[in-house]
Amino acid sequence: MKYFIAANWKMNKTITETREFLRIFMPAVRKIKDVDIVIAPPFTSLSAAYEKIKGSNIVLSAQNIFWEEKGAYTGEISSTMLADAGCRYVIIGHSERRQYFHETNETVNKKITSAQKDGLHVIFCVGESLKEREAGKTFDVIKKEIREGLKGVNAGNFVVAYEPIWAIGTGKTATTGQAQEMHEFIRKILGELYGDKADEIRILYGGSVTPENVDDLMACKDVNGALVGGAGLKPESFSRIVCFKKEI
Ligand code: PEP
Repeated sequence: MKYFIAANWKMNKTITETREFLRIFMPAVRKIKDVDIVIAPPFTSLSAAYEKIKGSNIVLSAQNIFWEEKGAYTGEISSTMLADAGCRYVIIGHSERRQYFHETNETVNKKITSAQKDGLHVIFCVGESLKEREAGKTFDVIKKEIREGLKGVNAGNFVVAYEPIWAIGTGKTATTGQAQEMHEFIRKILGELYGDKADEIRILYGGSVTPENVDDLMACKDVNGALVGGAGLKPESFSRIVCFKKEI
């Protein structure tokens, strides 16, 4: 299975900073063929990024969508618009959106369904909080997020990102054992939903991935890539992550 590594820039980088990042990053990863490389800039930088990366081995993702196609929804952006701006992917269900913008499994599901209808592929995020982990609820939370988020969704054009909330932006990475345990569990839930097709669905790990820990994480059997926040903002660190060392 081809690895998939995406940088989620969140609310960072102007258009000038986006171009500067790509000026350094693109030559550093030009020869990489066995990894799908994705960057997710803020909306304002999407077109500038697309101008630079089109035709290269890097593809574009947005960080959010609204599920309606068009109309009186001030401040919102549809999947049709994002596809038109050059996006191939959209991140849906990120814990920051669930936490600060009150997204639920139900609205996440509407967004995934809308993206699928318009041919956008989805980076679907799930993850438990520290409180949920400590209360022994991790498996239940993840199972519910997956079952409800993917209700009626076809296999084939999404990847799942397992992002334990306690590891996002905290410098606390899940151990390889914790990551593999959760990815194996997610694969099992996907198997219940999609049968054999679940083996083809890539499951990314996200949560303080760095150049220092990426090699070990990517060596886990069910880890098929990474969703990277902080370390995806610097071309030097993100290119090292994309060029992770594979087990021989
Ligand atoms: C993220 O927000 O998706 C993320 C994984 O962030 P970080 O790598 O900074 O923990």
